[in-house]
Parts: sequence; C-alpha cells; structure tokens
Amino acid sequence: MSTHEIPYVLIVDDDTALLEALPQALSLRLTAVEVDTSDSALHALDLIREHDYDAIVSDIKMPGMDGLALLAKVQELRPDTPTLLITGHGEHDLAVQALRGGAYDFIQKPIDRDYMVAALNRAIQTRRLRLQLADQQRALELHALSLERIVENRTRELVEANASKDKFLSMVAHELKTPITTLKGRTQLLQRRVTREGLDEVVSLGLNDIERSINRLHFLVNDLLDASLIQTNMFVIHRRRCDLVQLCRHILDEYTSGSGPALRFEAPGEPIEAEVDADRIGQVLLNLLSNAHKYSPKGYPITVTLQQIGFEAIISVRDMGVGIPPGDLEHIFDQYYRVPEVDAQAGSRRGLGLGLYIAHKLVERHAGRIDVQSVQGEGSVFSVSLPLFVDPTTEDVDTTKLALHTQAVWTIMH
Ligand code: ADP
Repeated sequence: MSTHEIPYVLIVDDDTALLEALPQALSLRLTAVEVDTSDSALHALDLIREHDYDAIVSDIKMPGMDGLALLAKVQELRPDTPTLLITGHGEHDLAVQALRGGAYDFIQKPIDRDYMVAALNRAIQTRRLRLQLADQQRALELHALSLERIVENRTRELVEANASKDKFLSMVAHELKTPITTLKGRTQLLQRRVTREGLDEVVSLGLNDIERSINRLHFLVNDLLDASLIQTNMFVIHRRRCDLVQLCRHILDEYTSGSGPALRFEAPGEPIEAEVDADRIGQVLLNLLSNAHKYSPKGYPITVTLQQIGFEAIISVRDMGVGIPPGDLEHIFDQYYRVPEVDAQAGSRRGLGLGLYIAHKLVERHAGRIDVQSVQGEGSVFSVSLPLFVDPTTEDVDTTKLALHTQAVWTIMH
C-alpha cells in the first residue's frame, strides 16, 4: 500500500520533452501530486520495485522494452497499481491490446492534458478505494477469526464444565449409594426387631418414616447415577433372549406385592421373545407404572398391554390420570423435564425429571422406541416398542406369528 498521503505517480516515456512537460501539466491541475519520471521501461521497473505508486502512465512505443511488456511486469509485481498507456493517434489495435493486457485506460497522442489528468485522477481514486476495501476486508476477516476463537474457547469451556458436572454427579451418586444401602439394611433389621420384641409403636412409626425417606433417596441416587452413566457413554446393556410376557408378569407381581396396588386381571398369552437386558426393560416398565400411579387419582385403573405387531413387541401402560398438556409432550423425554404445576398423587413425590429420560435412552439402546399419547384431563398411554428376537439359525420366518395379536393384558387398581 502507498505510504504517501498525496498521490504518487510514475511517468515513463523515452520522449524527454514530454517527460518534462507532463509532470508540469499534472502539478498545474492537481492540488497535490508527487511525480517520478523514467525514460526507459527497464529503469521504470527498478522504481516500481522500490516504490508503491498510486498510478503509472507509460508510452507504449519505446526502444528496448515497450509499454505493453512493462504493463505485463507491473501486473506481476504490483497487480493493484493501475497503468495508463499512451498510444499514437489512431492506433486502435494497440489501445485494444493495452486494455486486454490489463491497462486501466489509454491516452491518445497528441495528449489532451485535461483528459489525461481526469483519467489519472480516476485511476488514483479507484486504487485508493480498492486499498480501503482490502483493508476493511482484512479487518473483517480478523474480526471473524477472533469471534471464531471466542466461540471455540467458550465451547471448549462449556464441554469441560459439562464433563466435570457429569463426573461430579456420578461421583456423588456413587459415594451416596453405599451409605444409603447400609442405612436401608440397618433400618430393616431394626424394624424386624421392633416387630418381634413388641417395642414402642412410636419407634416403629419412626422407623417406617426413615425407611420411606431412605427408599426415596435410593431412587433419586439411582436415577442420578444412570443419567450420568448415559451422559458419559458408560452405560452397559447385557442383552439376553427372554420372554417378555414373563418379564412383564414378574415386574407386575413385584409392583403389586405386599402393600402395593392390587392386580385385578391377567390374561397372559403365548410367549413373546426379544433380546433385551431384562433388568433394564423391567426398570423402564416400573418407571412407567410408577408415573401412571403418581399422576392418576386414587381408584382409577392402570392397564398394561403386551402386543405383537409384525416384528415388534409393544408394551403399553395406560392410565386415566391428569394427562399431559400438548405443549409439554415434545419435552417429556428431556433430561430434568417436569410438567410445570402438576402435583403427584398424595403419598408419592415427583422425581428429578430423569425417569422418562433414562427410559427413553434405555429403549433406544435396545433399538426400540418409546412414544406417548395423552389427552389432558383424560389420561396417557406410554408405549415401548422393541424388536422381536429373530433366530439367526433359521432361514424361514413363521409369518402367521407376525399378525397383530395381543399377548397379555393386566389391570391394576390402586
Ligand atoms: P419424574 O420423576 O419427575 O416423574 P419423569 O421423567 O418420570 O420424572 O417424568 C417427567 C414428567 O412427565 C413428570 O414430572 C410429569 O410431569 C410428567 N409425566 C410422566 N408420566 C406421566 C403420566 N403418566 N401422566 C401425566 N404426567 C406424566
């Protein structure tokens, strides 16, 4: 870029009379201009290498290196510097050649001084604007680069913060798990002793409360631990071939045993096999049951259906509870999401909003899907679809078995 505040111009011509006259004509017509002159193209090249001119005016016809050859060199050395070439009167071919070679303009002999100055002025302005534009472009590029770096740094910081949050959660959950298990065992032991030895009822009630709190803590810590394992991709699934009818029956028996809700109706059908981690699919079903229980009024039934549709098994849990507002449905499987202003039934408490997130991830890891349909005030249906077990050793598939049929239905009253 030119370091000159005032325009800096080079005139090249082997005609020494013109070489003296032209700078004078420029000085008279421009308020400020600095002019170098050269009587040969070769010498001009030295000057061009040394100085960054705002414009160059050169005669075409010169002995030795001519103006067109000089123009080609200028294009190489200083591609931003506009060059105006002087042609003889009527030498249109040369003028065209000059323009094709990249000349900014051409000036015909005899030289009209006003025309030459106007053309030179335009060339100088064009170059200055080009330089300004290039500066602005560079500044913009630098700005974009610095923004990019800021975004990269922030992203790295956020990723690190997120990773350390996950690590922290998993560490805390791990550390809490052992004392909670010990507390649970000891409380149960004490409770048995109190029952056996007929000790104070107040102590017995107290122990019941303690056990309930410990159970709640136990569930919260397990959810935190599962969520952090999922987040850090450390979650391991142990898939084995198993009968889903039996799996559901086992979970429902467990859920309705003791003081749990009553199992009213059972119609188990034929076995339906899938390759799953039974503990984890059991955990999903328990979570859906406990949600159906938490968000339904007392006395309303919960229905569990097991169906086979094509190559899929579908476990559905239907309740007639509060339902989920349409706007919340799309977020229902998000981490920590809980529908605002909805209370769980008396006697149960809301969790951390992790249960459905974990269920969704677990089902996904089994190459399945979990869907929800819900009408506010009428109830919800959560459906888990899992791929059926296909025996890799048999080539024929019994297509009659693939027709839609219901394998089992259970109804729970609570
Ligand atoms: P939480 O432990 O809070 O129940 P979940 O992830 O299991 O977390 O559920 C997320 C939210 O979805 C709940 O807080 C509740 O608002 C809503 N929800 C889940 N299941 C049902 C249901 N069967 N009926 C109505 N709302 C439900």
